[in-house]
Amino acid sequence: MLTQHVAKSVSRVRVRIGWCFGRGGVKGACSVLIGDGGAENMIATGICLLKGEESESPIQGTVTFEWDETEEVFVQGTIEGLKPGKHGLYVCSLGNVTNGYMSSGIHYNPCNKKHGGPEDADRHVGDLGNVEANDDGVAKFEMHDRLLRLAGNYSIIGRTLVVTENEDDLGKGENDESAATGNAGKGLAWGIIGIANK
Ligand code: ZN
Repeated sequence: MLTQHVAKSVSRVRVRIGWCFGRGGVKGACSVLIGDGGAENMIATGICLLKGEESESPIQGTVTFEWDETEEVFVQGTIEGLKPGKHGLYVCSLGNVTNGYMSSGIHYNPCNKKHGGPEDADRHVGDLGNVEANDDGVAKFEMHDRLLRLAGNYSIIGRTLVVTENEDDLGKGENDESAATGNAGKGLAWGIIGIANK
């Protein structure tokens, strides 16, 4: 009985290691994310309403996440009230905003990688790069992401989306903070990603 239990635990550990470091396939490893929350289990859409911290903050936005037929997540959003220029966008590990984005954890990183850009092999699953606000402070964006999931063990539903004060250096800043957060500065606005519809 005990032996069986130990054998099971060992194999579970092996599987877990394989998940994050083992297989190829999708660029950037974590390829097993493919098997997690397969298309048949995918909810149709996730949605996040972003709000700035202060009540008079002009920053607000809506971002949707949709599993598409290419088995990537289509991210589409509009954020208003930003300073013109680039701002980092990332998913945090938790959905706890009792102390704003500060209590929502670090960048969502189930595979123990360094911070990076969305196209990089070495990136947090939550790293969505930058969005760019125009002269009116409006950022409109669309992207396809290969690592985000909307169901399964690694789903981003219930976690927090944050837009930052500064441009994300995508981990190319050659200092510790770059490898952790991309030197993107504080969170300006955030919201919890919820289920929009089935
Ligand atoms: Zn990151």
